[in-house]
Amino acid sequence: MAKCPKCSHDIDVMATACPECGYSFPAEPAPPQRTSWAYSRLADVALLVGMVAALLWAGAAAYRTVVALIHRQWDALLIQGPLVFFLAFAMFVVFARASDAGRRA
Ligand SMILES: [Zn+2]
Repeated sequence: MAKCPKCSHDIDVMATACPECGYSFPAEPAPPQRTSWAYSRLADVALLVGMVAALLWAGAAAYRTVVALIHRQWDALLIQGPLVFFLAFAMFVVFARASDAGRRA
């Protein structure tokens, strides 16, 4: 339930006009225009390149973790490897989601 701004009568949230006083509600505001630099062509390219770089970085971290296992470097195997892998993979996910959200908008 919502309230009419003119007469305070309870009205349905989907109503376009107040049944009591006839006040008509303004239409939904237009979605914000995405004209900032963050939605520019250059930003799209940066997201794409960042996605590829993050994926390569995650792959390199996974490879280094395997090498650390072979050489029994426990700190690299148990701490650095997984941390860097998940950091890089999380960056990939963030870039991919931002890229997807930008396409849908
Ligand atoms: Zn009203």
